[in-house]
Amino acid sequence: MIHYTILPFQFKKISENNILMVNECGDFIFISEEAFHSFARHEISEYSEEFYKLKSHLFCAEKDFDISLRKTAARYRTRKSFLREFTSLHMMVVTLRCNQRCEYCQVSCADKDVHDYDMSKDTAMKVIDMIFQSPTKRPKIEFQGGEPLLNWDVVVASVLYAEELARQQNRQVTFVICTNLTTITHEQLEFCKEHNIALSTSLDGGRDIHDACRKDKSGRGTYDAFMKKFDLAREMLGQDMVGALMTTTADSLNHLKEIVDEYVRLDLGGIFIRSLNPYGFAAQQAARLGYDMKTFVEKYLDVLKYIMELNRKVFFPEQFATLLFARILSPFATGFVDLQSPSGAGISGAVYDFDGSVFPADEARMLARMGNRYFCLGNVKTDTYQQIFAGKKLKETTSGACLETTFPCAFCVYQAYCGTDPVRNYLETESEVRNMVDSPFCIRFRTH
Ligand code: SF4
Ligand code: SF4
Repeated sequence: MIHYTILPFQFKKISENNILMVNECGDFIFISEEAFHSFARHEISEYSEEFYKLKSHLFCAEKDFDISLRKTAARYRTRKSFLREFTSLHMMVVTLRCNQRCEYCQVSCADKDVHDYDMSKDTAMKVIDMIFQSPTKRPKIEFQGGEPLLNWDVVVASVLYAEELARQQNRQVTFVICTNLTTITHEQLEFCKEHNIALSTSLDGGRDIHDACRKDKSGRGTYDAFMKKFDLAREMLGQDMVGALMTTTADSLNHLKEIVDEYVRLDLGGIFIRSLNPYGFAAQQAARLGYDMKTFVEKYLDVLKYIMELNRKVFFPEQFATLLFARILSPFATGFVDLQSPSGAGISGAVYDFDGSVFPADEARMLARMGNRYFCLGNVKTDTYQQIFAGKKLKETTSGACLETTFPCAFCVYQAYCGTDPVRNYLETESEVRNMVDSPFCIRFRTH
């Protein structure tokens, strides 16, 4: 007896007599095997509790097929709403120079006085002009390096010009400077305060853990210099305007609880347990700093339990888990480019290198620094906005970066919550599209 139409979904047997079903809008239910089979055979009773669950979560429709389809479409549009904000995050690499030489540096930074790697003011103005051609009403400009504070005049000129364009075009622009903080001055902090600029910095843990990788050019640890400026920055800008990120190495993987303790001690409001990216110096040092993804996930799950215990006393989220729950429990886009399909590369974020070259993601720029410019979209000095953001390269990258059309992701029960990273795929397999099963990305995602 067919009294309902089955709507698209994926499913997986999770445990004995327990099947997880997830539909196109990310709604999920757990159902017994018996109910699942009778649902698939169109035999489930319309008066059963399971049928009520299936219908209310849009796994099937009765006579109200059109209404159910419209509801599915509305939720699907909400899940993909990040596409309307094309392109919201713009990363400007204002210099490749840096005063530090961290062991895992992803950009293979240049020496402090090699000015050939600075973005010129003229290039910076062209970048800002390009950013303001993006349809988004709320562009976010992130200054990166190297150490962006070493090319301060260009940061200042870019902020002032972007504010001017935002006023003229009635847009809301926000700024972040990604800095190691150790060279920041009182005057620079005053400017940040005046222009509401947030700081994003790096803190790997307590002194020993931080100093193991984050070193100055002479090989000395930078923890003390960092803490001095970190305190000053929080005092002048307010705690909320100074965020910190950590990077996990083979050594620190065994000290994740201590790292969490340091973040709690400093009242940082949460932590993102980040795995190492295989670029720059980190790639050269892979044998010493790296680890396999299964080991990372094991340790991650351990520390996650620790964080959950901590939350009985103090609110302290692990941010990757928070993002995953946001993807699973709400239809709204998180803005986190790694968990998007199509991939956020070029759509949600774009990177402008010091010489004006444009890349769809920071990792693509790092790949170029390693000698492979495969993902370069063009240059602000020679190409138009249309050529760069509606050009063949970005179209190719985007069309290959949709889980919905990639095997086996198209049939995976986690597809609605997952994402894709064409640059990492390319780095690992020399193709933007790959069979994701057993890729580090998939292992990390599926085990969570
Ligand atoms: S990781 Fe950042 S602070 Fe460290 S050397 Fe690289 S650019 Fe400099
Ligand atoms: S990457 Fe893995 S977990 Fe994600 S959708 Fe593809 S197969 Fe599923």
